[in-house]
Amino acid sequence: MKSAPSSKSKTEIRRSIRRGLLRWFRNHPRPMPWRSTRDPYRIWLAEILLQQTRVRSALPYYRKFLERFPDMESLARAPFRDVLRAWSGLGYYARARNLHAAAGEILRRFDGRIPDTRTALLALPGIGPYTASALLSFIHGKREGVVDGNVARVLTRLFLVPGNPRSGPVLERLRGIADDLVPARRSRDFNLAMIDIGAAICRPRAPRCPECPLVTHCRARAEDLRERYPEIPPRRKTERVGRLVAVMHRADRLFLVRRPEKGLLGGMWEFPGYDSRAGARGAGRLSRELTRRWKIPVRAAGEPAVAEHSITYRSIRVHAFRATIPANAEIPGGEWIRGRDLARYPITTATRKILERKKS
Ligand code: SF4
Repeated sequence: MKSAPSSKSKTEIRRSIRRGLLRWFRNHPRPMPWRSTRDPYRIWLAEILLQQTRVRSALPYYRKFLERFPDMESLARAPFRDVLRAWSGLGYYARARNLHAAAGEILRRFDGRIPDTRTALLALPGIGPYTASALLSFIHGKREGVVDGNVARVLTRLFLVPGNPRSGPVLERLRGIADDLVPARRSRDFNLAMIDIGAAICRPRAPRCPECPLVTHCRARAEDLRERYPEIPPRRKTERVGRLVAVMHRADRLFLVRRPEKGLLGGMWEFPGYDSRAGARGAGRLSRELTRRWKIPVRAAGEPAVAEHSITYRSIRVHAFRATIPANAEIPGGEWIRGRDLARYPITTATRKILERKKS
């Protein structure tokens, strides 16, 4: 076992960590468009997009949103359907709803300016403790520690903090440590350095300690406990879900239904169907289910198109059958949408995949 880091005073350690991190940050810039701007709207938009989404996936959406909604007012005044359409494909759709609702509130209550207090930020839709700290630090330059999953990993290793960092009390403790470490000046750079080290150096497996500016202070490295920290329990098992859907044409139109406003993928459009694991043998069941639901004869048949899609811990396999109903029969709910108009609708990723399969 290697020797523990030298016993300096807490203040000295804090100073040394700050100095090392800020120096490292100067020499290891990670260019991102939302880092080179001081526009609060852009920084806020990026923070919401980056919740549960990687930088590479968020980038095209960031650009698309700025083209379509260049400022808080244009976003707040846009119909929600347009926001949802711009968001389509990014997942976790509650974020789109919260983004839009928060833009409305910021415009109404704060004259379009992002509030600079934790209480006001936390009262906005879609802003939790992490995002509030990030906005206070990145936009307003406040002395706030920012602890995302990556930073939590760094801190648990640096100070050997036991327990699951996703649990409330441990996360609170980590936030306390981060608040204590962050300097009053250059809090933004300090936090960004921590985030970058967590993302690129202090990786979950095989952390690159020799490149890490924290290496001389790191207890997990000194005691060779890096693989044991953070203490995260095993992931929830993937749940496999089957779904049968009906693809119905009327001339150049397709029939789609809108999901309920609240809940998973709220407000998105998709082919009608239901959860079932019958798979390729499910045409008869789908016919019966939709006949019962709509009270008109529905006939699903043929070889289905198959699309796979994951949402959180659910892995969904969709079988899409061609289906017919009597000419002129009315279906309650839903719309017959022209193929060329589909681009204007926020459709689910599974629906988009089925449309692509049907084209190919
Ligand atoms: S020294 Fe290694 S384990 Fe410690 S914080 Fe740096 S990368 Fe992570």
